[in-house]
Amino acid sequence: MLEDYKLENLVEPALTWFEKNKRDLPWRKDRNPYHIWVSEIMLQQTRVEAVKGYYERFLHRLPTIRDLAECPEDELLKLWEGLGYYNRVRNMQKAAKIIMEDYGGNMPKDYDAILALPGIGAYTAGAISSIAYGISAPAVDGNVLRILCRVSEDDSDIKKEGVKKKLTSLLFPIMPEKSPGDFNQALMEIGAIVCLPNGEPLCDKCPWGKMCQAKCHNSIDRYPVKSKAAKRRIEEKTVLLIMDGDKILIEKRPSKGLLAGLYQFPNLEGYLKRDDVISYVRKKGLDPIFTEPLPEAKHIFSHIEWRMKGYLVKVSDLELYQETVEEPPILIEKSKIQSEYAIPAAFEKYATYVNLTLGKKGFL
Ligand code: SF4
Repeated sequence: MLEDYKLENLVEPALTWFEKNKRDLPWRKDRNPYHIWVSEIMLQQTRVEAVKGYYERFLHRLPTIRDLAECPEDELLKLWEGLGYYNRVRNMQKAAKIIMEDYGGNMPKDYDAILALPGIGAYTAGAISSIAYGISAPAVDGNVLRILCRVSEDDSDIKKEGVKKKLTSLLFPIMPEKSPGDFNQALMEIGAIVCLPNGEPLCDKCPWGKMCQAKCHNSIDRYPVKSKAAKRRIEEKTVLLIMDGDKILIEKRPSKGLLAGLYQFPNLEGYLKRDDVISYVRKKGLDPIFTEPLPEAKHIFSHIEWRMKGYLVKVSDLELYQETVEEPPILIEKSKIQSEYAIPAAFEKYATYVNLTLGKKGFL
């Protein structure tokens, strides 16, 4: 159990191992709290290799907290396109505005003040304050929980928030005074490249081989204990790629709820037949001259799964549409969509069909 295990014995071997084995990552080039913040938020949802390009581009466009605070929302979402969890970047902007107003544009040098900012939980506050400022605060995420539950053969359900809180409070007193940031990064790094989440952990490369209870008792496959996630709700949709030459119809999603404020291809609940699609398009004042079914696609969110069927609809005159409705739809050149409008990865398959690349365009 975590409570009975001498966690302090893990510190020195972890620090020595980290010094020799840490990867050369863009966000490790300096200890700028803004850089650490951006990288930590991106890394919460995406693999290191995929984050590198997003990270470089984000900081190239928004090099300071002030730039983040002042960035127009559509552009901010475009920079985040493909990373998902868009509320995270919105919260970053809210926090950036607070930092501008209350802290003169500098990240506060205080764990509790960082923790109080929107979108920053105990993990991120611990990472920023320890790495940037040398504050003795732990940073416990799922990776750290996994490795320390293995080391101590702790069978608590790591999905329960209380377990994370327990481990955080157990780590506070053992944080090394001189290098808390390195210790946090060592734990993250062991979780990322040694004590792997899926498949066999690489115990022969681990600094804690002899101290690891699960390894010694040959019980690694029993840890960590994780309760099953709730079943996802399935939603069926029909996605319409309505095109006039090189222009495509996109629309803005509502300002609240799933994928709020992002752009999308028009889509309808349920699976529509070709005739239904044609009459839907005609009701909108458009003249479909060609309709073709597109391949099916699936996208998994944390609680919902979209199962999509699609149609390509070529229309003869989209301009007509704009005159017949109160709020004209956005009718955009493909190249402009590519550079300015954030379309979530859920529509990636259909975007690819019309040669739009989501997310990765514009990497340095
Ligand atoms: S010895 Fe193996 S199971 Fe234990 S912490 Fe290290 S890599 Fe993970």
